[in-house]
Amino acid sequence: MHKIFDIAIVGAGPGGIASSVEAVLLGLKNVVVFEKSQNHSDTIRKYFKDNKRVDKDWKGIKVELRGNIHFTDGTKENTLNLFDTLVKNEDIKAYFNEEVYSIEKQEDKLFKITTTKENCFYAKNIVISIGTMGKPNKPSYKIPPTLKQKINFNISQCSQNEKLLIVGGGDSAVEFAYYTANQNRVTLAYRKESFSRVNPTNLHYLFDYVEKGIIDLRLSLDIKKLEDNQGKIEVHFSNGQTELFDRIVYALGGFNPTDFLKRCSVILDENNSAVVDENLRNNQDGIYLAGDIARSNVGGSIALALNHGYIITNHIKNTNRV
Ligand SMILES: Cc1cc2nc3c(=O)[nH]c(=O)nc-3n(C[C@H](O)[C@H](O)[C@H](O)COP(=O)(O)OP(=O)(O)OC[C@H]3O[C@@H](n4cnc5c(N)ncnc54)[C@H](O)[C@@H]3O)c2cc1C
Repeated sequence: MHKIFDIAIVGAGPGGIASSVEAVLLGLKNVVVFEKSQNHSDTIRKYFKDNKRVDKDWKGIKVELRGNIHFTDGTKENTLNLFDTLVKNEDIKAYFNEEVYSIEKQEDKLFKITTTKENCFYAKNIVISIGTMGKPNKPSYKIPPTLKQKINFNISQCSQNEKLLIVGGGDSAVEFAYYTANQNRVTLAYRKESFSRVNPTNLHYLFDYVEKGIIDLRLSLDIKKLEDNQGKIEVHFSNGQTELFDRIVYALGGFNPTDFLKRCSVILDENNSAVVDENLRNNQDGIYLAGDIARSNVGGSIALALNHGYIITNHIKNTNRV
């Protein structure tokens, strides 16, 4: 006979961690977390530059924390330390390097969870908290295979003294630009004429750097194609100019991993976003979505993901689905 978990949580980012911690605090101890990476908070580790400032009210979205996790403004390191302490809770069982492949509702109303290693687990409730960064959006033109190492989707591989082109017009692009600008020659290119979805603090930092000549900002500029020019990236811009760069970092956002959600019996709307009610429940059957994946068309934040964990676990407890 297989062990049956009360709650199985997919993804150990802020949404998954909060769901597990709040569940345990509510006395729901039969909880398991699956994380595809070797450690929790993979998005924060991979996409946040060292010492990055972490805002609680990110992108200006004010969030009143409802749960028991005391998250405040800080840095990448503070935030990871907070989550490190939380996941050490002995009552939370976590499997790392275990990527969930599919979730299937069985006739006995239990969910069967299958991982890419073909391990199977069973649970009464599911919390999907996989974020939206798993698969970054990519440009539509071809990336020459010989340049693949130099074309990145986050700044973890950036070092110093490089001529860098950052492409995008959201908070990630702006943050990537000013985090790398002190050690590199940075150009930020955005295809629109102004930034409409960047938070004011980030814009302030950006324009300060632009005024001081530390960042070369080019608006209304798109890219038509890339070529390998003796190991450098030759960028063909929409204004007809070409220029050589050592590295390009695209920050074009991430998309909703629709195929995964479909394999997990999640109901999607016409835009392939998960449908959730005020309790973050996808349907009547015990599937919940927490964090960015629950807000794929409006964007999320750490604080919002933490609140989702609180709301979901209270709902599970109150509806006696354990
Ligand atoms: C550059 C950048 C800067 C940001 N700055 C801030 C900030 O200052 N303040 C703020 O509040 N927010 C910030 N954010 C947003 C914040 O990171 C997200 O809102 C938050 O991480 C969402 O948490 P989550 O749990 O939904 O998803 P994630 O943090 O993305 O975590 C998802 C986890 O699920 C795992 N996973 C994915 N698929 C599977 C699978 N199939 N099986 C098992 N595990 C899986 C992943 O490995 C990952 O660990 C920033 C984001 C970026 C990219």
